[in-house]
Amino acid sequence: MENKFCSKCGAKWIDGQLYWATGKQGSEADLAGLVCDQYSDEQCINKLKGTNHNGQTWEKRMAEIDKVLADLDRQRLERQLDL
Ligand SMILES: [Zn+2]
Repeated sequence: MENKFCSKCGAKWIDGQLYWATGKQGSEADLAGLVCDQYSDEQCINKLKGTNHNGQTWEKRMAEIDKVLADLDRQRLERQLDL
């Protein structure tokens, strides 16, 4: 059993599994894309930080949120127009 803790991003690795600072299970690629690439420095122990990973990024997140909001707008409009 190997536990690691990153004081920069607050992530924990328990037996190889990454947990966010919130305690939620996560992936190193997502952590790198959302946190470490932008907010951590060289002391960060996430080995995917700064690499060409395929994790979540804020750009992807925002695109998803935009899509959801656009859908909601469309639904609201459809209701208003009684389509
Ligand atoms: Zn870190």
